[in-house]
Amino acid sequence: MKVRFWGTRGSLPAPGAGTQRYGGNTPCVELRAGGSLFVLDAGSGIRELGTFLMKEAGGRPITGDIFITHTHWDHIQGFPFFTPVFQPGNRFRIHGGRGSTKAFDKVMGGLMDPVYFPVELGDMLAKLDFIEVGGPLEYGEVLVRSTFSNHPGVNLAYRFDQGGKSVTYLTDHEIYEAMHESSPFGKKQDRLIEDFCRGTDLLICDAQYTDQDYRIKRGWGHSRYRDTVALGLAAGARRLALFHHDPWRDDDALDAIEKDARLIAGGKLECFAAREGQTIDI
Ligand SMILES: [Zn+2]
Ligand SMILES: [Zn+2]
Repeated sequence: MKVRFWGTRGSLPAPGAGTQRYGGNTPCVELRAGGSLFVLDAGSGIRELGTFLMKEAGGRPITGDIFITHTHWDHIQGFPFFTPVFQPGNRFRIHGGRGSTKAFDKVMGGLMDPVYFPVELGDMLAKLDFIEVGGPLEYGEVLVRSTFSNHPGVNLAYRFDQGGKSVTYLTDHEIYEAMHESSPFGKKQDRLIEDFCRGTDLLICDAQYTDQDYRIKRGWGHSRYRDTVALGLAAGARRLALFHHDPWRDDDALDAIEKDARLIAGGKLECFAAREGQTIDI
C-alpha cells in the first residue's frame, strides 16, 4: 500500500509563506492498494492530484473510488476542480454517508448549484456513481470498512486492509472522553474507535488543537493532538500522521507540535505531522 498526502490542512485552505512546508491545501489523501486507486476526501488538494493522474494516465481511462468522510466544505471544495471528472471515459465511484437532511448525491450536486458555481454536475463527462456507504466493500484483496466518528453532522472514518497491512483515515474526530469529560458513554465510544484503529500500520488522524485551543473549541469536532497520540498508543497503531492542521498554525508551530507529540509518545509510536507531498510506503 502506498499513501501520498495532497492536502493536510483543516477547515480552510491556508496558502502563504508561513505554510509552505506542511502545505495549505485541505484534506485529500491518495491511497494505492491492490492495483486500485482510492482517494480520501476531495478538499482543495484534489486539484493537484487530478493533474498528476491525468499526466500519469497519458490519455488512458482513469478509474478510482473517492471516499468522502463528510460534506463540510473543506472535504469537498476541490471536487469541481478535479480535472479527471470532466474527461469522458473516466469512471469514479464517490462514496459517502447519507446526510441528515439530504441524500449524499444531492448534497454533492448542491455543491455545484448555480448559486455557488458556474458549471453543473451534468457537465462532468466522466461516469460518476454516488454511493451511500453501507457495509464493508471488497476490491480484490482490499477490504474497506467504515465507522461513524465524533463530529457535528454525519462523519465517517475509513479503514483499508490488505494482506495484513492497513491504513486508517480518521479525520474530523473529537475524542469522546475529552468532550464528555470521562463519562461512561465517552469511554465506551472511544473503545469502539480504538477497536476500529486496532493495530493499524498507519493512522491518519485529526490533531487540530492544542490545549489552549481546546479551552474555547471543545465540542467543535476536533481533537487535541495529545488525545490523538493517546488514541494511537491505545490502539497499538504503528505510525501516526497528525492531520487536519489548523489554518492558523504556521510551519514552525507545526514543528513544535510534532516534537511535543513525539515526547508524549515516548518512543512507543512513530508520529509526525503530515506534510503535503509526503509519500509513505506501508
Ligand atoms: Zn474538516
Ligand atoms: Zn468537518
